[in-house]
Amino acid sequence: MTNNPPKTLTQNQAITILKSLGWRIRTAGEYRQALAHFQGGWNLGPALKVDAKLGPFTSAALRISEARRRAGLPTASAHFSFTEVRCKCGGRYSTCARIWFQRGAFRELERYRKSLGSGISIISGCRCRGHNRAVGGASQSRHMAGDAADFAPVRPVSWFATRNLFRGRGWNKSPGTHPVRHGDLGPRRQWMYG
Ligand SMILES: [Zn+2]
Repeated sequence: MTNNPPKTLTQNQAITILKSLGWRIRTAGEYRQALAHFQGGWNLGPALKVDAKLGPFTSAALRISEARRRAGLPTASAHFSFTEVRCKCGGRYSTCARIWFQRGAFRELERYRKSLGSGISIISGCRCRGHNRAVGGASQSRHMAGDAADFAPVRPVSWFATRNLFRGRGWNKSPGTHPVRHGDLGPRRQWMYG
């Protein structure tokens, strides 16, 4: 037989990989949560079913991400890694799930990067409730929903609008240019900071 079905990882193997990809796993509940968040964000192949179960497709996806990590390549999508969008609280808040960035948001970052024609450095991705409060984020910030990113402000809002990039766009107060520094997939809206 040459057409063997993909092998399912053991739970311990999956935990080791999820940890190396950036999650914190201390309990069975955190393992299931991390697995579901991995499934919901992974963008290196067809969408995974988000069921927090370790089947053959999720196992194959974990193997791909881990092989890419070892090779120094991005682990979540073609150009972005899970660790780049991890909550920056550093695990200070005990309930922080660390990484819950959504597949659609990774796709939008890829679209942005392609339009820009150069790399994007992510300043802020996921934010747990405690960290969002600590940094003075909006009470309903999309960073808490895992579909928002802050990045260096290099293009004006008109540039984003023309390309239909991100539904929510925020920019710093700077006369004339309005370079966008926040993009999200929440309700369609635009606003100015400060
Ligand atoms: Zn956090």
